[in-house]
Amino acid sequence: MVILKTDREIDEMRAAGRVVARALAAVREAADVGVSPLDLDRVAREVLRAAGATSPFLGYRPRFAPVPFPAALCLSVNDAIVHGIPGEAPLRDGDLVSADFGALLGGWAGDAAVSFTVGRARPADLRLIETSEAALAAGIAAAVPGNRIGDIAHAIGTTCRAAGYGVPDGFGGHGIGRAMHEDPGVPNEGPPGRGTKLRPGMVLAIEPMVIAGGTDDYTCDGDGWTLRTVDGSRAAHAEHTVAITSDGPRILTAL
Ligand code: MG
Repeated sequence: MVILKTDREIDEMRAAGRVVARALAAVREAADVGVSPLDLDRVAREVLRAAGATSPFLGYRPRFAPVPFPAALCLSVNDAIVHGIPGEAPLRDGDLVSADFGALLGGWAGDAAVSFTVGRARPADLRLIETSEAALAAGIAAAVPGNRIGDIAHAIGTTCRAAGYGVPDGFGGHGIGRAMHEDPGVPNEGPPGRGTKLRPGMVLAIEPMVIAGGTDDYTCDGDGWTLRTVDGSRAAHAEHTVAITSDGPRILTAL
């Protein structure tokens, strides 16, 4: 069931989204060669604490997971696509980092992700990251009343495929509100003109993921969470929480 939000509720969701934006900016600022993902989890948690917000990721346990997620920040490095558990191993020169973060504030959830490099960037990684951002922008541009979920999926998928990248099978965005995951699902690929019609008051987390090697396959680490490319190539992830309004898409997790 799709739960529509009032303008006032969307304003409240914007407050939660701002906390997410601030945390991701702080993580990006702190990320460097020699800094560990666990250090970055602490940076993100401090932003939550200072804002009086809590984490929807920490302790989250969907059906597929053997253990609750043990951190507030998902940090997926290099060939990890999403859901990486922050560890102690320091980031290395040229690593590609995807940071995914959520906040709960005033009973509302926000969810966003950004990918970046630390140290000396490989040109191929910068192109991969740019494509994830371009796919996100295309998906957001399609998030207008009258369009359908399939139009967002099509915009994302065609952007990723045109660049020659793989799109992880079966993963995508989601409705978001009082819960981090609500209806409808937002696939990252598919035919246009299909699926739920978009209406003002719908709020969606739109989140393209791209695999550099061009395959769509992934595997899960023994930790039960970290999704990794099968071909060993690198992956990037970009996400915003976006409200559909009669004035067009409103990004709730921008700074
Ligand atoms: Mg999400």
